[in-house]
Amino acid sequence: MNFSPAIEELIEALRCLPGVGPKSAQRMTLHLLERDREGAESLAAALNEAVNKVDHCQRCRNFTELDVCEICIDPRRDATLICVVETPADVLAVEMSGSFKGIYYVLMGHLSPIDGIGPEEIGLNLFHQRIVDEQISEVILATNPTVEGEATAYYLIDLLQGEGVKVSRIAHGVPLGGELEYVDGSTLAHAFSGRRRVE
Ligand SMILES: [Zn+2]
Repeated sequence: MNFSPAIEELIEALRCLPGVGPKSAQRMTLHLLERDREGAESLAAALNEAVNKVDHCQRCRNFTELDVCEICIDPRRDATLICVVETPADVLAVEMSGSFKGIYYVLMGHLSPIDGIGPEEIGLNLFHQRIVDEQISEVILATNPTVEGEATAYYLIDLLQGEGVKVSRIAHGVPLGGELEYVDGSTLAHAFSGRRRVE
């Protein structure tokens, strides 16, 4: 026996969420329809709104509802200092730590040749162009201390070699294999102040 087509469709749609298999998708669907129609309505509206309004910042690739995000246009930030991170959640984590007053570049992932994610997919052509065109004094590599994050950092070190910019890697009070967004603020602050020059 199958559920009605609309129910089946919702179950299938919910499976686009990370970590949601058929059983949990079914549970969520039945819950929404049976117990929380209001929640379902506002979920649908919020999804619609976010997908229509949120795009990438033209300068740093972070999510924003503007052409250029609030961090990139903030005149109080040091625009000669760029911190490279993997995700918007990492930007938030670094911001919460209060240890950084420069600007960001958000890769929206990391190099992963096996999944077909090369330099262009994580915006490294645009990033390289910025380093060439702008007065950048230091690039801080804050990709995750995972295998992919390290590989991405090494690629960037290579890419920036000879561009006359100081390159540093955050120190790893950040646990090996850990992700930036789960590291507490003071550990992250130490990781920034203890960053070491790599180029
Ligand atoms: Zn931006």
